[in-house]
Amino acid sequence: MTKYIFLTGGVVSSVGKGVTAAALGRLLKERGFAVAVQKLDPYINVDPGTMSPYQHGEVFVLDDGAETDLDLGHYERFIDISLNRVCNITTGQVYAEVIGKERHGDYLGGTIQVIPHITNEIKRRIGLVAKTTGAEIVLVEIGGTVGDIESLPFLEAIRQMRSDVGRENTFYIHVTWLPWIGATCELKTKPTQHSVRELRSIGIAPDMIVARSDYPVNEDLCDKIALFCDVDRRAVVPMVTTPILYEVPLMLERLGAGEFVLERMRLEARRKPDWQDWERLVADVRREKPTITIALVGKYVELHDAYMSVREALKHAALSMGVEIEIAWVHSAELEKGRGWEVVKSAGGVLVPGGFGGRGTEGKMQAIRYARENKVPYLGLCLGMQLLVIELARSIMNDDKANSTEFDRTTPHPVIDLMPDQHGIADMGGTMRLGLYPCQLQPGTKAAAAYATELVYERHRHRFELNNAYRDVLASGGMRFSGLSPDGRLVEVVEIADHPFMVATQFHPEFLSRPNRPHPLFVGFLKAVIDRVGLQNLSKREDGREPIEVIQG
Ligand code: GLN
Repeated sequence: MTKYIFLTGGVVSSVGKGVTAAALGRLLKERGFAVAVQKLDPYINVDPGTMSPYQHGEVFVLDDGAETDLDLGHYERFIDISLNRVCNITTGQVYAEVIGKERHGDYLGGTIQVIPHITNEIKRRIGLVAKTTGAEIVLVEIGGTVGDIESLPFLEAIRQMRSDVGRENTFYIHVTWLPWIGATCELKTKPTQHSVRELRSIGIAPDMIVARSDYPVNEDLCDKIALFCDVDRRAVVPMVTTPILYEVPLMLERLGAGEFVLERMRLEARRKPDWQDWERLVADVRREKPTITIALVGKYVELHDAYMSVREALKHAALSMGVEIEIAWVHSAELEKGRGWEVVKSAGGVLVPGGFGGRGTEGKMQAIRYARENKVPYLGLCLGMQLLVIELARSIMNDDKANSTEFDRTTPHPVIDLMPDQHGIADMGGTMRLGLYPCQLQPGTKAAAAYATELVYERHRHRFELNNAYRDVLASGGMRFSGLSPDGRLVEVVEIADHPFMVATQFHPEFLSRPNRPHPLFVGFLKAVIDRVGLQNLSKREDGREPIEVIQG
């Protein structure tokens, strides 16, 4: 029988429900269980693929090509698992399915209603997680906060699941926030009490309360929450904000959350959790280390969530090399106005991540040209590869009209062009080249050296590609095509031959980086940065201070 752990949010959003789910998943994996995590998003979009990063942060792509919420990235990184498309469902998907069946005549004259038709479809999709992943314990995170109109069908569905699958197979966790009142210097539990009352009014009695706070939570406060919210004292888990994201599993472990969950679900741990690697990881984050700076030149830099996986991948690689990473966020449109160049010039390396649309691309290309001409290490991801190709083509052909047809439909030199199978596609959602594809690395290239292997699988999310008609021109300017699709048709990785490290990929390596398994291309990039600046010249900074990691929910 599959066990289900449901996580709801109370008081306010963005307090770290996703990280809590991911960390708890790790606690259970450490005890020998096969775990999966699913996120239920109450919005009506079918997936976040069509949403602006300003609204939604990064779109995280899975092996099977699903475009998902960035919390899926936390789940995969913390638990070190690969999830699939059933692990992120939205109201839009649920309604599309039910309405499709209705049009097909599947309901035989019935009146289609939220209960039971919508709730049944939600439950069916929750059930698919264990079936498709083999998980024994499925954690289900419900997006938003209790009290939102739009999440009601999800809450009703998970309420029903207690009687469907049995009390001992379900466990409800409510993640709340304790506000700090500056005038009296105290934390308040009242919003938590109200939120639990709201949850109870729809029939869900929480089995555990994770009380998030920016300040230490004392015993009295925990006693009070237990009393007023009618939960076991051991079920009150005070989680103080930490600047180190990867410390959260260790904190939950210390607070006894893993043992309590297992006990209540009548499960025996199969093995003793082994936290050695995590302890080492967190100790490494804390240790004082030399700092290297990477200029991340993008369009959504005000919102760091838009580049969540890139930032994590940089941190993983830096940790493995004993350095601290500082990301200098550079807005590409500022570079176009001649501002922000001192930041780019003082950085050890330049990174241009993925993106869509023409705004800011000229500024990114100026940064790329600077990196190429001054032999500054460069890593380009997806759009960051396409812009390197355009920049080089312009320089070789001495023609600034070379472009991607994404930004200039009538360019005389479409060095980046729509993939043939993308012609005639009218729908924007879910129609890009998405998910895992093989890439054959070419021997003797920097990319092959970094990976130390020949065939790799990486996750994609793009519509445009390097136009093969320009391969010879680009090669004449020193570009090497270091990774190709196995049939040789698509260029997946490019690099500049006469340069310490200028490598760019059509895919997104950042999605496969893990805290204990940094991605080889990020490691290769940082190695080149360290070679350039020299470790002895770097200032040391006490760690855990910066960059402050705010737990996202
Ligand atoms: N806009 C480009 C394309 O569609 C790059 C996409 C990306 O960076 N993810 O091909």
